[in-house]
Amino acid sequence: MTRDAGEDNMITDMDSEMPLTGRGLGRRALIRFGAAAAGTIALASCAKENPNREARDGKDKGPYDVAVVGAGYAGITAARELAAKGWRVVVVEARPRIGGRTFTSNFLGRQIELGGSSVHWVQPHVFSEMQRYGFTLEEVPLINLDKAYVMTADGKVHDVPPARFDEGYSDAFDKFCEDAKTLFPQPFSPFANSQVAKLDEISAAARMAKLDIDPIQRASLNAELVLYAGSSTNTFSYMSYVKMFALAGWDPYTFTDSEKHWHIANGGTAALAKAILDDSKADVRLGTVVKQVESDAKGVTLRTADGQTIDAKAVLFTVPTQVYPDIEFKPGLSAEKQAFIKNGDQCDGATMYMRIKQNIGNTFAFCDDPNPLSAIQTEEANDEVGTILKATLGRQSLLDINDQDAVNAELRKIHPGAEITDIAPYNWVKDPFSKQAWPAYRAGWFKKYKDMAKPEGRLFFAGSGTADGWHAYIDGAVESGIRACREMTHLLEKEKTSNG
Ligand SMILES: Cc1cc2nc3c(=O)[nH]c(=O)nc-3n(C[C@H](O)[C@H](O)[C@H](O)COP(=O)(O)OP(=O)(O)OC[C@H]3O[C@@H](n4cnc5c(N)ncnc54)[C@H](O)[C@@H]3O)c2cc1C
Repeated sequence: MTRDAGEDNMITDMDSEMPLTGRGLGRRALIRFGAAAAGTIALASCAKENPNREARDGKDKGPYDVAVVGAGYAGITAARELAAKGWRVVVVEARPRIGGRTFTSNFLGRQIELGGSSVHWVQPHVFSEMQRYGFTLEEVPLINLDKAYVMTADGKVHDVPPARFDEGYSDAFDKFCEDAKTLFPQPFSPFANSQVAKLDEISAAARMAKLDIDPIQRASLNAELVLYAGSSTNTFSYMSYVKMFALAGWDPYTFTDSEKHWHIANGGTAALAKAILDDSKADVRLGTVVKQVESDAKGVTLRTADGQTIDAKAVLFTVPTQVYPDIEFKPGLSAEKQAFIKNGDQCDGATMYMRIKQNIGNTFAFCDDPNPLSAIQTEEANDEVGTILKATLGRQSLLDINDQDAVNAELRKIHPGAEITDIAPYNWVKDPFSKQAWPAYRAGWFKKYKDMAKPEGRLFFAGSGTADGWHAYIDGAVESGIRACREMTHLLEKEKTSNG
């Protein structure tokens, strides 16, 4: 059976489930076991006429003070904050669900997160939201690996004893990030050290070339970085990765802990997103695709694919960078934004779950670029289930993740004889409302990320990629929503005062 939620906007019959961890491995294999209810999830066509439109308090009439485009974490946070200040707010979301690039789902009966998943207390914005609504952390247990494999770029597979694998990877990672404290003394002010902007052209690959590490270490580190890059590492910004490491207290253990040890308990990212939006007084229009934006000195008009017109005094855009070209702006966006949209952000990533018949135990594999399955990790293994694996691809374009036979052939290079029975791929790149996975800056463009956050007249901009802190994370999305509320309130208050 093959499925691609990103391609046809439909995940159905997910009669089993499996847990997932974040991207890449880090220092240890982390495996979560979760019970779950069987479920059917339908992402109905987002293009059809707004079947899920929901109006709050019967006041869905406008005109609005603010329209928020996108109900991912950035949009819902901003909407709650703005509505709490008394502004009339409408959220306009293309998909028939909220959450954006987070998506709680099921696979073979277990709850899974197909997008953003791992959270941590060193991520202050998302952790504060969890505390506000009473969400706790669910631990992804650390379990000793039975087997670790590293596939080098030439396709050769190395069976590395897990302890040696862990030690080698840790050593390479420490060397890669060793200047983090000097470069990022205040990680939420990433350019506090002026050297960061000056050295922004350095790619992750160029940095790696300077390290004294062996070929297995190099392959492991490169595979991990390809996952963050969503590309080969020779175009990926070294500085932007080191900033995230600095955000975790410049500490390797904490960084790994933040990227894959803890998930949101009690319903996952979907439940937290719902709690945030339920706490808002905003109107919400789901299944509503914004196609055109016209703004002048007096206000903004949004036009949607299903013929709606929405007027507001100001509009907040939270759509992923790659989606902007699908929206017509009148007048056009600034040259700086257009340049960033074209060049600055990249992420060809995807995730998939698969079940194989055989019980292969607790395993982890790093496959170096250009091998497509960058990281493959056991999520559950026993004689009844066989093995459920999660694979994360930094470059989905290297493999058709809907083609079960092709995926199986790749997998057999690591696990000979493995027979895949079910797969659950989600291709965020082929999803028309993301067109990319997590934010990932190109070398030389990290120093310009703020161009995407600058207001233009009555248009404001948020989204995790505009965050100062955890820009590739849910935390960054929340941070950006709070910042946008501050900016918009400034404009609206000023106008309210001058209008008497
Ligand atoms: C596979 C994967 C794994 C990840 N792992 C982690 C992790 O472990 N931990 C972590 O913290 N983060 C992780 N992330 C990153 C994190 O999920 C994102 O950074 C964050 O969710 C982005 O939120 P956002 O609000 O900025 O954007 P989005 O969530 O993308 O929200 C934008 C919204 O705009 C909507 N939209 C688009 N076009 C239009 C339009 N024309 N009209 C109306 N609406 C529109 C979209 O449907 C979407 O809902 C991961 C992401 C992916 C894809």
